[in-house]
Amino acid sequence: MNEFIAHMHREEQRIRSILSTNKPLIDLPIEEMVKHEYTTACISCNQKFTGSARIKTLHHYNVSGKYIATVCHLCKLQLNYRRSSSEHFFIPCFFRSNVGINSEMIIKYSQGKSAKIPMISNNTDEKFIGFQMDGIRYILDSFQFLQSSSLDNLVLNLYNDDGIEPFRYTRRTFGDSDPDIFRKFVFRYEYMTNREIFKDASLPPKESFYSKLNTEFVTEEEYKCAQQMWNRYDCQTMEDYAELHMKLETVLFADVFDQFRRFAIQQYRLDPAHC
Ligand SMILES: [Zn+2]
Repeated sequence: MNEFIAHMHREEQRIRSILSTNKPLIDLPIEEMVKHEYTTACISCNQKFTGSARIKTLHHYNVSGKYIATVCHLCKLQLNYRRSSSEHFFIPCFFRSNVGINSEMIIKYSQGKSAKIPMISNNTDEKFIGFQMDGIRYILDSFQFLQSSSLDNLVLNLYNDDGIEPFRYTRRTFGDSDPDIFRKFVFRYEYMTNREIFKDASLPPKESFYSKLNTEFVTEEEYKCAQQMWNRYDCQTMEDYAELHMKLETVLFADVFDQFRRFAIQQYRLDPAHC
C-alpha cells in the first residue's frame, strides 16, 4: 500500500505538470482554417455568433497547441480545464468496487500525508461514494456509473460492439496479437487463503476453482483458457498468475470506463469523471 500511495503521488505531480503547460495555438492546417471560417454557430452552446455579445473564437489544447473547435468566447472561458493551482482541481481515480476495503486501506496507510480528507457523497441519498486526498479524488465504486454490470459482461459488450479498437489500454499493455486478452480469464480469490499458495508452481486442479460466492465450478473451456494464459505469459508461480490476472482486469476496466466516458461526453455533454 505504501508503494501504491507513493505511485499515486507521483502520478498526481506528473499530471499537474502536463496540465500546467500553456502552449499558444499553432498554425491551422488549411482544412481547419476553412472549417473555422465557415462555422456560424458555437459547437458548444449552439448559439449563433454575433458581434461583441458572442464572439467567434478558436478553442485549442493548451498542452499541444492544436485546434479543437470553433466556439463562442463565453464557452471558451468555461471549456478551459481547471488549473493545478485551483483549489477545485482534482484527479479522479476510480476503483471497480468494494467501497469499504479500498477506503479503509488507503486512509489507514495515508495517515499523516494529508491534513484533511473530505468525504464525497452522491446528491440523491448522500451515500458515501469516495473521498479526496490532496489533489486525488478516489471514487470507490465504478458500478454506480456502469449500471452494476459485471466486468465480464461489460468487456464482452464492448468487444462485440466494436472489436478490439476501443481496447486502447489493453493493447498498449499486452499488444493486440493475442485474441484471448480481450476477455477476462478465471481466477478465484477464494482459493488464495494464505500467502503460501502464492508460491505454488502450478494452477490448482480444476475442482479447486469452485466459487462459493457464485456456487459454480469453472467450465472445461475456462480452465483450459487459464492453463493457456499461464503458459503463454510464462507464469512460474500463482503469484505471477495473480499479478497477470490483476493487470489484465485493470486495463480492461480502464478501457470499459474510458469508452463509457467518451459516450457520456458525446451524448450528454457530461464527463462522468468530473461530475
Ligand atoms: Zn458557446
